[in-house]
Amino acid sequence: MTDLTSLTLSEAREGLANKSFSALQLTDAYLKAMDGGRVLNAYVLETPDQARAMAKQADEALARGEAGPLTGIPLGIKDLFATEGVRTTACSKILGEFKPPYESTVTTQLWRDGAVLLGKLNNDEFAMGSSNETSCFGPVINPWRREGSKTKLVPGGSSGGSAAAVAANLCLGATATDTGGSIRQPAAFTGTVGVKPTYGRCSRWGIVAFASSLDQAGPIARTVRDAAILLRSMAGHDPKDTTSVDRAVPDYEAAVGRSVKGMKIGIPKEYRIEGMSPEIEALWKQGADWLKAAGAELVEVSLPHTRYALPAYYIVAPAEASSNLARYDGVRYGARVPGHNIVEMYENTRAAGFGAEVKRRVMIGTYVLSAGYYDAYYLRAQKVRTLIKRDFETCFANGVSAILTPATPSAAFGIGEKGGADPVEMYLNDIFTVTVNMAGLPGIAVPAGRDVQGLPLGLQLIGRPFDEETLFSLGEVIEQAAGRFIPGKWWA
Ligand code: GLN
Repeated sequence: MTDLTSLTLSEAREGLANKSFSALQLTDAYLKAMDGGRVLNAYVLETPDQARAMAKQADEALARGEAGPLTGIPLGIKDLFATEGVRTTACSKILGEFKPPYESTVTTQLWRDGAVLLGKLNNDEFAMGSSNETSCFGPVINPWRREGSKTKLVPGGSSGGSAAAVAANLCLGATATDTGGSIRQPAAFTGTVGVKPTYGRCSRWGIVAFASSLDQAGPIARTVRDAAILLRSMAGHDPKDTTSVDRAVPDYEAAVGRSVKGMKIGIPKEYRIEGMSPEIEALWKQGADWLKAAGAELVEVSLPHTRYALPAYYIVAPAEASSNLARYDGVRYGARVPGHNIVEMYENTRAAGFGAEVKRRVMIGTYVLSAGYYDAYYLRAQKVRTLIKRDFETCFANGVSAILTPATPSAAFGIGEKGGADPVEMYLNDIFTVTVNMAGLPGIAVPAGRDVQGLPLGLQLIGRPFDEETLFSLGEVIEQAAGRFIPGKWWA
């Protein structure tokens, strides 16, 4: 039998339906792969007993002919999603051994549809980062290496564990979250597909909050079709999240393979940033040519406020984070470091529990919200946000169906290579992705090529609100033309 872990989600679904293998066999194949893949540090917690129990239940459901859309499909869950009775830490020491007494809505829906939990995946602490180096469990290692090199590369962040695990066949698909690019950037760095849905499409209930007006859950998968299958189960209205939208969830998979003929695709001139590498430039042009060959019409568009997006994001996101993270005070969750009085206890707990990047964000956030600076920074950033949103609205009002951009300014970089002396060097990774969060729009990252050193590169498609379907149709055109990107296996 071929290695079960090399199948895509849709192929595995077919194999299970045909009884070519059982859900338990599939799960066992993944548990074995996870054993061999520990060097990548993608999982921060493995749940083999739970996985096998869920797989057995899946086999029973299959035998009864009662399979759901994901019955027997083994998934990894980003450690930002609360899983009932299963340690959830957001990869921060401050949550300690926190075991939530509840399950997030997104994961509840995945289990409802029959999926199997393999374990919890590594991420940047509280999802703050672009390289997965801020996790209290240590960095994730990208399964991709530069040709002829053993240098360890980052998988991107903050959903680095999700992207690495999907790319290295350590799960069939993974949940992830995206506040400023954390689904799309790691997908681009690992040759996987990542979807950041429209704000409000997936419930945020039970997901550790970073910046609530930007956070959105979505899938990382091996193919566009697999991502579509996963999103259908993850999405939907939830009365427990007042920002989730009561709108029917379409059959996203049906959009895969749909014609894109006549669609108008925008190429935003402001994304041609200074010093952009010729490789990224060529990739972008190639993507546009593929869409044109499929019958789409390419048009230049202008998103004039793009240059303010990154600075505005790095005000809004820390501001919301400083407020969201106020709840970690040593009283309710996880770790506590005692002090002589309660204030000292708060201080000791937060000093010991948060890592350096999280502390930086809390300080920036508190500063921009403080009296005297609020108007100059926070309020102004919110105004910029409205202008960014308006840029996109104008573009869509002119008949543009989607916008094509690079997903990242470069391929994966080495561990420890960026952001050491200057955090802005790391923040610049998010230059093409944050606008989408600021405007609340859906975006997909699809692998589209490789750099000179053989590393995968991705393209991003940005869609109209709640039109993820168009992104799946267009994404598949790129996928078909570019082919799939699979790393050579150097780990056990
Ligand atoms: N890299 C961005 C940040 O650190 C985005 C993170 C995210 O999307 N969670 O804020």
